[in-house]
Amino acid sequence: MHCPFCGANDTRVTDSRLVAEGDQVRRRRQCAACGERFTTYEAAELVMPRVIKSDGTRELFDEAKLRAGMLRALEKRPVSAESIEAAVERIRQHLRARGEREIHARDIGEEVMQALKRLDQVAYIRFASVYRSFQDIDEFRAEIDRLAQEPSFSMDPGEAS
Ligand SMILES: [Zn+2]
Repeated sequence: MHCPFCGANDTRVTDSRLVAEGDQVRRRRQCAACGERFTTYEAAELVMPRVIKSDGTRELFDEAKLRAGMLRALEKRPVSAESIEAAVERIRQHLRARGEREIHARDIGEEVMQALKRLDQVAYIRFASVYRSFQDIDEFRAEIDRLAQEPSFSMDPGEAS
């Protein structure tokens, strides 16, 4: 594996451990040339269902797009990269576990909302407000009120890990 900092192709593994309940291998590597350290994740590639978009067209499942949407919602929020990766992996598992060859884009959106709800309430509201495109401020307020009724609801970032 080439060093992402200097491009040298001599990097060595300094640590290797199972993560994501054993479905991934996390490796710490160090470049022999420049000494920089970086992390790689290795996971089995399994076929994901195709995505049915709202206009009926199909496209390949795009994990980068999924992650980008979550990162946008989580911008400047106190959530670690590892928590986000774990959430992305959980979503992939859920989607695969359905055992369907095609899946509606809105089902993926719902999965993302559930994941964000667990990670960070502010990110959840950000995502939901765009994704569900609330018709008006009353509808948006109703969602926040509904959330506030839930015992797990907290705006305190300290509890969002
Ligand atoms: Zn290097």
